Amino acid sequence: MFHISNVHRNISWCSYLVIQTRQKSKTHWAKLKRKTSPKYKAMEHFDDFYGSVFGVKWDPIKEAMLRRNKYVAVVNNYGNVEETKDFLTNRGAHCLKNLISIQNDFQKEYSPNTKAEINKSENNSNKKLEEFTSQLQSDEIASMYSQKESAPARLDLADISLNSRESLLLTEKDTEPPTNTTLEESMNQAKIDMSRIIDPSLGLTSESLYQFIPATKLKGMDDWVPESLHYSFLSKDKDFPLVIEPETDLTFPEHLKVYTYEMHSEWGMFPEPKRCNTGVFNYYPMDCGSVLSVLALNLQPGDRVLDMCSAPGGKALVALQTLLPDVIVCNDVSISRTNRQKNIFRDYLSDFATNNKWNERVAFTRVDGRMFMDDQGFDKVLVDVPCTTDRHSVTEDENNIFRPDRIKERLRLPELQAQLLANALKLVRVGGAVVYSTCSLSPVQNDGPVHMALKMVFEQDSIVAVVKDLTPAFSGLSSTLELSSGKTAPQYGQLVVPSTAANFGPSYIAKLVRVK
Ligand code: SAM
Repeated sequence: MFHISNVHRNISWCSYLVIQTRQKSKTHWAKLKRKTSPKYKAMEHFDDFYGSVFGVKWDPIKEAMLRRNKYVAVVNNYGNVEETKDFLTNRGAHCLKNLISIQNDFQKEYSPNTKAEINKSENNSNKKLEEFTSQLQSDEIASMYSQKESAPARLDLADISLNSRESLLLTEKDTEPPTNTTLEESMNQAKIDMSRIIDPSLGLTSESLYQFIPATKLKGMDDWVPESLHYSFLSKDKDFPLVIEPETDLTFPEHLKVYTYEMHSEWGMFPEPKRCNTGVFNYYPMDCGSVLSVLALNLQPGDRVLDMCSAPGGKALVALQTLLPDVIVCNDVSISRTNRQKNIFRDYLSDFATNNKWNERVAFTRVDGRMFMDDQGFDKVLVDVPCTTDRHSVTEDENNIFRPDRIKERLRLPELQAQLLANALKLVRVGGAVVYSTCSLSPVQNDGPVHMALKMVFEQDSIVAVVKDLTPAFSGLSSTLELSSGKTAPQYGQLVVPSTAANFGPSYIAKLVRVK
């Protein structure tokens, strides 16, 4: 006999199982989603790499990057200047120029032994990077061998030429059952994830990557990317004239008014900017590191400036707030970002859309910076390159460069950065300055492309540029923000490191002056 109560019991048991399964799978997918999200991937990557570069300093940097970042307020000279300054001062903010001068007075006796310090730190951080790269390469090779196979215990690919790497892979294949398939056929069979393949037309580095990937290992191996070759971009050979000299004549532009809260200050945030009676906003909130790239340019009256990767225009706006350049060319490949920049300029520069005087001073171009051409020569060029935008990458999933479909773009960054900087060195007149900046902590995107670009322009066009050591010029900032120092300091530029006391950055700023 079939009892209705049994049916009920069976139904409720079934629904219990279904609910359980759903709940289980919900947790599972939620966890999986979190673990595969671009933010998570970025942090995993940074933990590995920056943990190795910065050692014990990485954890506090990471903690700061995950917290709300700090801003400075750049007073808009086209608004009600005095009113804005009073407003900011009454909120407890200090004028950055005054803070720097107080700090400089305090440190009068301090004379940094820049070059010696740099050479010391170079050896240390290069050694760490070498170890890290070698570890990554060994791991990659190890992952190609099955557990049973006897893989070489510790391979250092850095010491192996590309040909030897290929023969290494062939040796591996030799141990597998013989097949008659060609490389091309096996790649077709492997249902290749196209996003993992680096286009061979991208040049030597990418071609090497292409050859390095064994076809049979591509299938389904979402995480398997030969990252180590990306790191190998940080070349150390110095077969070109390399001069590093201290930057001693940097001046804070008279008309640039930047307000900030001191380190450890309980105050930290400025309210939303407001429109003045002139119709423009009273101040522009931005990261202090971004202001430093403009300061490093040391703008002079009448300068002709190129902002090679300009959009959405924060740094170009600061350059205009100095009231110094005659002309600023704002170039960017992205039309949407350039449109955003124009809107920002309308919000901050009075009559920007209507007054013709702006057309003479501000020009917009939309050219790949690597191809940008000009026959007059620029006095100053700012190269604020696309990079891994580290803070954004660990906090936002949207537009994240660690998304799997952007992997090629990410791996190609150092190459692109070096090419942009190399072209900037060609476009600047002899005696003019180029400032290279990123918002990344990665030596591969910071010192790496600077080194590469110096080498490229010397070999291709006999251009020589000296590296200006900004240590003395930025020493007055020590009560405002944290600059990387000692063993973890970059060799060529200055690195603003996020800290909970002054949560700016990351920003890397390097200055080069063309001498030949
Ligand atoms: N300097 C800008 C500012 O202060 O607001 C931020 C620049 S953002 C870090 C990098 C910019 O480089 C992006 O707007 C991007 O569209 C642009 N870009 C990327 N590749 C480029 C290229 N090959 N040539 C010129 N601009 C490029």
